[in-house]
Amino acid sequence: MLTKVAIARITGVKPHEVNLIEEWTNCIFVKVKGRAKFISKRAIERDFVESRKQRTRVLKVTQVDDGFEVENLEIGSRYKVTQANGFSCTCKDYENYGEGHYCKHIYAVVESFGDCDLNGGN
Ligand SMILES: [Zn+2]
Repeated sequence: MLTKVAIARITGVKPHEVNLIEEWTNCIFVKVKGRAKFISKRAIERDFVESRKQRTRVLKVTQVDDGFEVENLEIGSRYKVTQANGFSCTCKDYENYGEGHYCKHIYAVVESFGDCDLNGGN
C-alpha cells in the first residue's frame, strides 16, 4: 500500500521520480524529484481505497459452472478464474506471478463473492 506507484499517483509524478519513502509516526515522508514532501496517512488510505475501487469497477465477475468469468469492460478481455487448491487464473499476470499470487481478476472474484462458498459446494 505504501508503494512508489501510490506515492507517484498522490503527488502527480512518475513512479521512478519517487526517490525515498519513509513511514513516520504521523505521516509519510517522501522525496519526489529530489524534493522533500510530507503526506498524511489518510491521503494514502484514501488513495488505496479509490484506486482499488477503480480497478475492480471495470471488471465484471460472472459465476459459471466451473468457476468465474472475469470480463474487463474497458478493454473487452475475458479470463477464467477457477478454484482448486487455491485460485488460478488464465491471464498473463497470473502466469507470470506464479502460483499462490493473486492477479486482479482473482481479487475481483474474492471481492464480489467473498461471502460465498468458493469451494463449489452449494
Ligand atoms: Zn487474472
